Amino acid sequence: MLVDNIYQTIGNTPLMKLDIKVPNGSNIYAKLEMFNPGGSIKDRLGVNLIEDGIEKGLIKDKTTIIEPTAGNTGIGVALAAQKYHLTVKLVVPDQFSQEKQVLMKALGAELINTPAEDGIVGAIKKARDLASQIDDSYVPMQFVNEANPQTYYKTMGQEILHDIPTKIDAFVAGAGSGGTFVGTAKALLEKNREMKSITVEPAGSILNGGPKHSHRTEGIGVEFVPPFFKEIKVDDIQTIDDDDAFYYVRWMAKNLGLFAGSSSGAALAASLEVARTLPSNSTIVTVFPDSSERYLSKHIYN
Ligand code: PMP
Repeated sequence: MLVDNIYQTIGNTPLMKLDIKVPNGSNIYAKLEMFNPGGSIKDRLGVNLIEDGIEKGLIKDKTTIIEPTAGNTGIGVALAAQKYHLTVKLVVPDQFSQEKQVLMKALGAELINTPAEDGIVGAIKKARDLASQIDDSYVPMQFVNEANPQTYYKTMGQEILHDIPTKIDAFVAGAGSGGTFVGTAKALLEKNREMKSITVEPAGSILNGGPKHSHRTEGIGVEFVPPFFKEIKVDDIQTIDDDDAFYYVRWMAKNLGLFAGSSSGAALAASLEVARTLPSNSTIVTVFPDSSERYLSKHIYN
């Protein structure tokens, strides 16, 4: 594939049928989002957030972009902002991996850390404070921006429908902002109203009623119900323990030759649970958002 720039390599990631024994003889297919150039599902979002802001006249030549992020959105936004020579400030809670923080800086972004105990809500508040102090700044705010689910409706959802033109029985995806889950599920539900849409959270997240506590699984888990959830039917919420997510991270490296991050491990654990509830020979689609390589300092394999 001959390309003119890095942006042309975003999206159209492989959808891999997993070589794993699944309950009820079902099949699990995973969208391998670590194949994006910035290494995650969020490169799709970065481009769309920036281009949406430009189209709406909210981003001009000298606008400073400010965004609260667990890391992958920051990398996606920094990558996209480079195309338009924009200044980027990313507000990242302390606990998120150093690898992601180094990559954001490498792309030219400035990082502002907030205390781990204040969570993503603390980062959101700090981003708003900063924006009020900087003239000509814009906060895309992935957590409420409709361009977020639209990104996945337009790209990932259509790619999956293209690769699996037959019936998809269940879609299983983790939620941080909820954009991936909601946008993709919306596209798939248009084809099959009966499809089960199931979201995944780590134990410690609040969707299944808590209790709220910290977790090692990075990128998924919420402190408030994502507002996008109102847009689709959510059939089930799978709450996955860190140990199970990390078990499947190691299992995938050893058995599939795949370096997948902890939210991918949680997605696989949840997909196997979901398979038990489906008729035999069902088709399940899930998403592996990023690679384990950005969590090596967090002892993901040891
Ligand atoms: N997995 C990882 C590794 C992520 O960084 C994110 C985004 N925070 C997600 C899953 C969840 O994506 P979304 O924000 O679209 O719900």
